[in-house]
Amino acid sequence: MEKHFLWRACHEILPTKANLGAKKVTEDSYCPVCERAEETIYHALWECPAARDVWSVGCIKFQKSHFEGPSFLQVVEGMLKSWDQMEFAQFANIARRIWLRRNELIHGGVFLNPNLLIQQAIRAVTLFHLVRNEVVPQEVACEASNHCNWKNPPIGWFKANWDAGVNQRF
Ligand SMILES: [Zn+2]
Repeated sequence: MEKHFLWRACHEILPTKANLGAKKVTEDSYCPVCERAEETIYHALWECPAARDVWSVGCIKFQKSHFEGPSFLQVVEGMLKSWDQMEFAQFANIARRIWLRRNELIHGGVFLNPNLLIQQAIRAVTLFHLVRNEVVPQEVACEASNHCNWKNPPIGWFKANWDAGVNQRF
């Protein structure tokens, strides 16, 4: 799913405002999230302040990667050279969620908090690799978010998370 999304993003065929404007579908090509710049794919997924908010709570590599556009393909090419498969899978999953979050906003839905978005992406990628019986390095699974409080249990262990509440009447 992420591969298909990245393919569409790299080939500039996501329906951003700039792409719709070029096809005369809309006259407003400004980003619907920040309303500060033309909404290219590079802007929506990488350069937009709302996207930067997401990347800034990701792992150190996400925070320190300053791949320049103008195309999203250049960002992806830069990452392919220096990142491993797991990091790249997380990047692809997060980028897709940034796009889905943007669509949610347009349709009047909730604009997901960057921390939650990152946590959901990490869990999805980690689960995917676990299901495929691939070893998930713990630091990769959890370093991606400074606020991620879920850690993989050691191999052979199960981990049960629980929560408690008190119902008191006065
Ligand atoms: Zn924007």
